[in-house]
Amino acid sequence: MQLINSENITIDNLSFPGNSDENINASVLRLDKIHPVISGNKWFKLRYYLDEAKYLNKKTIVTYGGAWSNHILATAAACKINEFNSIGIIRGEEIENLSSTLLQAKDFGMKIVFMNRNDYQNKIIPLEINTDECYMIAEGGYGKKGAIGASTILKNFTVENYTHICCAAGTGTMAAGLLNGLSADQKLIAISVLKNYLEIENKIKALLETHTKNLTVIHDYHFGGYAKYKPELIQFMNDLYTHSNTPTDFVYTGKLFYAISDLIKKNYFPKESKLLIIHSGGLQGNRSLNKGKLIF
Ligand SMILES: *Cc1c(COP(=O)(O)O)cnc(C)c1O
Repeated sequence: MQLINSENITIDNLSFPGNSDENINASVLRLDKIHPVISGNKWFKLRYYLDEAKYLNKKTIVTYGGAWSNHILATAAACKINEFNSIGIIRGEEIENLSSTLLQAKDFGMKIVFMNRNDYQNKIIPLEINTDECYMIAEGGYGKKGAIGASTILKNFTVENYTHICCAAGTGTMAAGLLNGLSADQKLIAISVLKNYLEIENKIKALLETHTKNLTVIHDYHFGGYAKYKPELIQFMNDLYTHSNTPTDFVYTGKLFYAISDLIKKNYFPKESKLLIIHSGGLQGNRSLNKGKLIF
């Protein structure tokens, strides 16, 4: 699968607003620079699913997500570029005014099908979808091929020197992929953005071929749950942008950067730690916020 603008990805030094701990060195991997609306990690998670779909000669990709889903939009774009038809099954009753995410997905040629929350929960496949012709990708791209794709995120960078890799986790697929590439003495810190999604550790382990002893999932920074937020999160995101010119999204990366900043303040990381924070993109989702909340 074709990857767009991967040469734009950089590793930048990062200092947090209000933190002055000189014993901790933090850098950020800017996957968000791949594309302004097509989320960073999603390209990596999709690549091997699409390769398999092509191999199986499937013409249409079907996947699931919410009205502001980064995964839905990235799938629509990737399908357009790689000449697949795409169908997005969207959680909730049909709405008249589509979100900007869904409008954009439609522009990429995706067919939008709404599904009530009950059927969605049960991952019902609508009758109009012929499963012989379609290739199904799970919600959020969860699965082994997604993890193998995510394990290529760090491939073009020298990362041995980092003691901790830090990322946001929704389904945990990216976390599983990142873990695959780490050495035994590097740690992966995954900030879960869902409330009390304690099964995530087993979900991550189910995708791994290797040891998992260097995984830590932290559940304390969900701000009320998936896509929920509090004023202090928005304030932090604005401060981070002013201080270090790093835009974040309120669903994933804002919570990640907030968590890491807070953990540094609480002396969670040993002295001389070198952190690599994965900016996994997702900025398009900020369009669901009222105008003026964010300064970027
Ligand atoms: C989807 C997404 C994640 C979560 O990835 P998972 O593999 O589902 O854990 C993190 N950050 C951003 C910006 C995303 O869009």
